[in-house]
Order: sequence, then structure tokens, then C-alpha cells
Amino acid sequence: MSKILIVEDEAKIARFVTLELEHEGYEVKSACDGRSGLQLCLDWKPDLMILDLMLPELSGIEVCRRLRQQSDVPIIMLTAKDDVSDKVMGLDMGADDYMTKPFAIEELLARIRVALKKHRADTAQSTGARSAGKLHMEPASYSAGYGDEAISLTKKEFDLLNYLWQHENNAVTRDDLLTNVWGYEFTGDTNIVDVYIRYLRQKIDDRFGIKTIHTIRAVGYMFRYEQE
Ligand code: CA
Repeated sequence: MSKILIVEDEAKIARFVTLELEHEGYEVKSACDGRSGLQLCLDWKPDLMILDLMLPELSGIEVCRRLRQQSDVPIIMLTAKDDVSDKVMGLDMGADDYMTKPFAIEELLARIRVALKKHRADTAQSTGARSAGKLHMEPASYSAGYGDEAISLTKKEFDLLNYLWQHENNAVTRDDLLTNVWGYEFTGDTNIVDVYIRYLRQKIDDRFGIKTIHTIRAVGYMFRYEQE
């Protein structure tokens, strides 16, 4: 059963959509301002979020922007009027789709099904094999190589490379890496990330004369394949 979060300050709409979604078999929670919506999304980790743009506390645009720094949950925006600039900004901030109020519930349900399906397909693909130049990795078998040469990685090194590669061309913070690769809220020294980055660079960049793991100053690291 998919979990859907609706963030909407108009109680009537929130209640109506909640009832309809529950009727369809979704598990639903709602928030009535941007700040609590953002927090609930991070805590509850829904499969999809319906986000009104005009919200008290934090605007929908701002919720979207902050959320995208740490989540790829599909977001369907609701706009009160047919305001093109709001829609464009929302989509720029990483929303997946939008609906203009008033909308037919059937259409919202259809958009939800599409967004959930697309997200599942994207996720499946992101766990699949990857390649750039001669470098390749196959998560299913925990193997990696450069051309015909195998690269021997520990599980942690593999997971780290996999995570960075999943976010190709995007800077990833050390905290992100600790949470997602090491799998816990790390409160101590983040040096462990740097140590493992060094191992990866020795095994991949230095060994094959390519550049894949870039240091992004004051942020963290980024995967981008470059032939030297
Ligand atoms: Ca509103």
C-alpha cells in the first residue's frame, strides 16, 4: 500500500482528497503548512507527496527546493490558479507534475498512478548496471571493472561508488553519504568518508588514469566520468 502525504492549507480540499485516496487504498497523512509538511515528509517518507504551492510558514516552492536536497519522492503540485510562472518554478525546483485547482479527482488519481509507476521504474533502473567510458559496475553481482579488468572493491567501497554514481553530476554531502552508505545517523567524525574516497580513487582513478570522483569544496563529492 503506497503512502501519500498531502500538504494543503485548505481544510476542505485536504479532507476531500484524503477521503478519496483512502478509498483507493492509499495510506494518507496530511499537513496544513509548509514547515510541518516538509518535516512530515522527511520523517514519514511517503511514496508520493501532493503539495499545494500557496502555503503558510513555507511556500510549496521552498518545501520542494529543500526536499530535493535529500529526497526524490515524487511531488505533484497544486496551484490555485493557472499561474504559469509558479508552475515553471515548481517544476524547476524538482516537482514531477502539477494540477490546477479546481481539478477532477479522477485526474489527480490518474496522475498519482503515473508518478508512482514512473518512480518505481526509475528506482529499479538506478539499482541496475551502469557504465561510463570503460568503467562499469553491476550492483546485482557486486562487481565492477574497467574494460576487461576487474576492480576489486569491498562492500562499503562498492556501496559508496554506487551511491555517488546514482547521483552522477550532483554533489553529495558527507552527511548524505554517511546516512545512505553507512546507514545510520553519524554524529562523530566524517573523516571515514574521506578515507573511503581515497581507497576508491586509488583503485579506480589512479589505477586507470581517469577522473571519476571529484571533490566539491565545502560540500562533499561528486561522480563525473572524465578521461584524463
Ligand atoms: Ca493554499
